[in-house]
Amino acid sequence: MPSSLDELPTHVRLETHATARNKAVATSTIRQGSVVLEVPSMVVLLLSSGKGHRCDFCLCSGASGVRLARCSGCASYWYCGPQCQTAHWESHKKFCKRLASFTASADFQRLEAHEQLDALFHTHLIAEISSHVPSDVRVKQLSTFMSLLPGPLHDSLPLVCPMSVGADVHQSLEALFTRSGNNNFAIHSHLTTIAHGIFPLASRLFNHSCLPNAAARYVIRRGQPVRMEIVALREINAMEEICIPYVDPALIESRQQIFKFTYGFSCTCPSCNFINTLGAIPSLPVSEAALAKLDDNLLTFCIPSGDIALLASSALPELPENLHLVLHESYLSRLTDAFSKASHEGSYRVALDVGLTVLAMYLLIYPENYPQIGMHLLEMAKTAWNAVIAADHDNAQDAPANTSLLKRARVYHDLSSKIMEVFGPEGDPGGPLEELAVLQNLLHAELD
Ligand SMILES: [Zn+2]
Ligand SMILES: [Zn+2]
Ligand SMILES: [Zn+2]
Repeated sequence: MPSSLDELPTHVRLETHATARNKAVATSTIRQGSVVLEVPSMVVLLLSSGKGHRCDFCLCSGASGVRLARCSGCASYWYCGPQCQTAHWESHKKFCKRLASFTASADFQRLEAHEQLDALFHTHLIAEISSHVPSDVRVKQLSTFMSLLPGPLHDSLPLVCPMSVGADVHQSLEALFTRSGNNNFAIHSHLTTIAHGIFPLASRLFNHSCLPNAAARYVIRRGQPVRMEIVALREINAMEEICIPYVDPALIESRQQIFKFTYGFSCTCPSCNFINTLGAIPSLPVSEAALAKLDDNLLTFCIPSGDIALLASSALPELPENLHLVLHESYLSRLTDAFSKASHEGSYRVALDVGLTVLAMYLLIYPENYPQIGMHLLEMAKTAWNAVIAADHDNAQDAPANTSLLKRARVYHDLSSKIMEVFGPEGDPGGPLEELAVLQNLLHAELD
C-alpha cells in the first residue's frame, strides 16, 4: 500500500495544475467501480458516540459479537483484543494516564463539541508522531504529511492533552496543526461517519470537486489499521484529473465558506461556477401551497418524462430561474426531514411523494453514481415495500395499487443496486449491499 509519491501505482500520476499545487491524473482509462488507490491511515480518532461500541484502534464494531476490553489505565479506550491494544499502546501510553484529568479540566470543558473533538484529534496526532515506532511506513507517511500545504492560520495553537514530547515535535507543533485541520477525513461505515482520520497520501494527491469522479470508502478489518480506498464513480479517461469531495456537495450555500476558511481555496467546479453567476437568490416562500408548487416544478424539470428509470444527474447549469430558490440549503433539509419523519411514522405514501423530490434534488447536486443517491433510492425502495406490507395489515387490499407499489420498489431497488455496486462495500459487514440482496429476494417472491 503506497504511503508516499514515489510508490504510486502506474495508472496515477501527479502533474502541475493551473491554480492548485498539483493534480492527480489517470495515465490510462480507469474502469468505473475500480479502486484507484489504497491509502493507509496515519492517525484515527473514534467519535465519542462510538466509545465502548467500537475498537479504538481498528474501529471494528462490538455489535458483531466481538467483546471489547477497556484500557485499565484510562478506562476510556476499548480494544477488540490484545493485538489492537498492543499496536495502539506505543502512542496511547503518551497520554493514557493524563487523559481523565485533561478532559475534566475547565479548559477542555468550556470547548464546544467540535473543538473537543479537535483537541482529542490533535492529541492522537502528537502522540502518534512522538511515539518511537521504527516503521518505514510511518516515516514515509509523516514526510508526506509534512509536505502538504499548511491550511489557513488560526489565532492560537489548539488545546492538546499534556504529554512529554521531544524538542523536534515541540518546535513543529504549528506546522503540524496547520496541516491537520485541512487534511482531516471523516471515516464512514455505510456512509455514516464514525471517526476522523489522516491519510497523508490521499491529501497530497487529490483535489476537491463538488462533481467528483471518485470518492473515498473505508476498509475496517478486525486487528488491522483502517485504510481508505479511492473508488472511481464512473469511467475516468486517460489524462483526466481524479477528484474527490472534501465537503458534502449538498452544502450548496455554505461550502464556499468552508473551502475558504478550512482549506484556503475557492472551488471552480462547474457547479460552483454556475452558482457564483446567480447572485443573491430570493427567499423561499412561506406558504405550504407555494412550496408544493415549487416541489412540482422541480420534479418536472429533473424527471421530465415522469419515468424515474430514465434518471440522469447534474442538470444544474440548466436550472431555470424560477427554480433557483431550491438552491437554499433549507429547501433540501425541509425535504429530507419530511421524508424521514413520514417514513418513520408509517405515512409511506407521503414519504414516497416527498422522497421523489429529494431524489430530484440529489440528481441536481450530486454527480453520476454518487453513493448518497444510491442510499436514498434504497430508502425509497424499502418505503415502497413497507407501504405494501402496511396495506396488507390494514386489510384494505387494493391489488392494482399494491402491484404498482411493488413495481416502484423494484425500480428504486434496481437503480440503487446499480449505484451501490459501483461504490462497493464499506466499513462494517452488512450494509446497503446486503439490504439490497434481502429486498431483491422479497420482491422476487412477490412479483415473479
Ligand atoms: Zn481492534
Ligand atoms: Zn488508556
Ligand atoms: Zn465546487
